[in-house]
Amino acid sequence: MDRRQPRQDRQVLMIPYGRQDVSQDDIDAVTEVLRSDFLTQGPAVPRFEAAICAATGAKHAVASNSATSSLHVACLALGLGPGDILWTVPNTFVASANVGLYCGATVDFVDTTPDTYVMDADALEAKLTAAATAGKLPKIIIPVHFAGQSCDMNRVAAMARSYGVKIIEDASHAIGARYLNQPIGDCAHSDICVFSFHPVKIVTTAEGGCATTQDDELAYRMGLFRSHGITRDADRMTMDAPGGWYYEQLELGLNYRMTEMQAALGVSQMKRLDDFVARRNELARRYDDILSDLPLTRPAQNPDAYSSYHLYPIQVENRARVFKALRDNGIGVNVHYIPVHLQPYYRNLGFRPGDFPQAESYYDHAISIPLYAGLTDADQDTVVAALKRSI
Ligand SMILES: *Cc1c(COP(=O)(O)O)cnc(C)c1O
Repeated sequence: MDRRQPRQDRQVLMIPYGRQDVSQDDIDAVTEVLRSDFLTQGPAVPRFEAAICAATGAKHAVASNSATSSLHVACLALGLGPGDILWTVPNTFVASANVGLYCGATVDFVDTTPDTYVMDADALEAKLTAAATAGKLPKIIIPVHFAGQSCDMNRVAAMARSYGVKIIEDASHAIGARYLNQPIGDCAHSDICVFSFHPVKIVTTAEGGCATTQDDELAYRMGLFRSHGITRDADRMTMDAPGGWYYEQLELGLNYRMTEMQAALGVSQMKRLDDFVARRNELARRYDDILSDLPLTRPAQNPDAYSSYHLYPIQVENRARVFKALRDNGIGVNVHYIPVHLQPYYRNLGFRPGDFPQAESYYDHAISIPLYAGLTDADQDTVVAALKRSI
């Protein structure tokens, strides 16, 4: 048997850039499920979905096994397919763009703002105007609430609606965040909003995602695509059910279901959502304060937004040297994000350096320093001391 040795070359990091916060209550919630009748397709997933609705004000929530899956079913529910176009931003995780390609659509990007690194409403306006003239409007745009901060959704939504373009918010970073004092996820400015529950995000289900919407039909269709395109609802069937065993496959769906253990963890974690976000904000204010004298750029705050602070991205000169010095000191810094269009896979589709200059110049200087609810003030001082030495 192949007995894997632990990797020796992997550095043990003292302070990671992000980390889950799992309590005894969380552990008890998961073990309780393991002793119950249902490990999947039981009562915990609907309970988790209800908790997401309660926290966001959404009418519907459809949980899945990842945000990537939720973005995919969101695109499918909106009818994205071959011949269609999807736009997102380059400053995001590859999944925001890949889901368009999964559906056979063409993907393009809208550049980001120089100070908050989210979709630039001016760039969107210019690109929409040109696309309308060329008859190449996107079917869907996916703005990303980078680091937990909403983009200018008022303007983005007004423009998209005027051109009949659908909006999916990639709020993977932004559960617990607010825009104009309303919770992200209420879909006041979008058709669908998607959250991630990967362990580095705000609350976790290990792997997991959720899509919210106010629209009954979109919720139904996302639920359908999440589970093989199968319905057991007699009202949705095309034929009369001959008996209780009967179900119908209506679409080519997938198996993107969340397990009961994941959902139970999520229900338990959601009880601490406000505390997690408050602590992240407190730590961010502390970084703002302690870092104010250093030669670096701190993340700007949009006064319309209350950020959930998934990340605290700074910009420095000589990023590679600072990054290495911090890693060598046991500080688990990271970079968010390598612009998606510069990935080899996307270069093969024709994208080039220089296509999205704002996202590229931000990337050249970006470092995300540790930020998570369990980070202590002392940990934070250790990070700042190492940062001071390295700059
Ligand atoms: C984490 C993340 C995703 C993917 O989330 P998964 O739950 O890991 O699939 C998508 N978009 C953004 C912006 C993310 O940060």
